[in-house]
Amino acid sequence: MIIEIKYKKQICEIGKRVYEKGFVAANDGNISIRIDENEFLITPTGISKGSLTTDMIVKVDGDGNVLEGDYKPTSEMKMHLMVYKERPDIHAIVHVHPPYATAFAIAGIPLDQAIMPESVVYLGTIPIAEYGTPSTEEVPNAVKKHVHNHQGVLLENHGALTWGKDLDHAYYLMESLEFSAKINYLAKQLNGDRELSKHNVARLLELKKMMKIMGESPLGVETPEGTHALKKDKELSLSDKDIDLIVERVTKGIIDAFNN
Ligand SMILES: [Zn+2]
Repeated sequence: MIIEIKYKKQICEIGKRVYEKGFVAANDGNISIRIDENEFLITPTGISKGSLTTDMIVKVDGDGNVLEGDYKPTSEMKMHLMVYKERPDIHAIVHVHPPYATAFAIAGIPLDQAIMPESVVYLGTIPIAEYGTPSTEEVPNAVKKHVHNHQGVLLENHGALTWGKDLDHAYYLMESLEFSAKINYLAKQLNGDRELSKHNVARLLELKKMMKIMGESPLGVETPEGTHALKKDKELSLSDKDIDLIVERVTKGIIDAFNN
């Protein structure tokens, strides 16, 4: 019982944090914690995450039946319960609509580039779970495809979802996810999102393994010797001299072919 009060307070605290950080507007978003194998605490529908009180948090079982509480659980509960069912190691979930991450979800761009060491090691690849109508089985079914190999997903044209070993973990993953999306967006406006080389990513992945962090990571890109990062789709720019050399080589090849 004492642990439940502690968990409810934690949910209210994280609710306030996501609201104040602008990760949600109005009544958006939902947060949950696993109490034990088949009991969960979850935020109610229709209440701003910035003004939650402990009496509003609902206790449900794995099928979504309300066990305790006067409020109705969030309509996105199915998505949470699916994650808990598939991943017994997961104890908390955060779902919000942070602006940069949601923009990537709308643009259909997964966060799968090796742009920063921290995101390679701690966050890993964040794929896109295909669009589903909110509150239907479509959403959990889309998330299910990614739940075993990742620490979170972008929900297509909707928002983001992270899961962790406790609520702080799930929340910090969400913070990292949004930060990574923001940095990626800003870099794209400048010289582009240069990705770390395969060699450098491989070294980071050794660290990740030592730290026993789960989930897929980006692999980095092929770069010329001595280059630590490169734009993936960068076309090699050729100088006039390069072009002259190519023309000369091709011409010589044709002449040789005719002479033989
Ligand atoms: Zn949502």
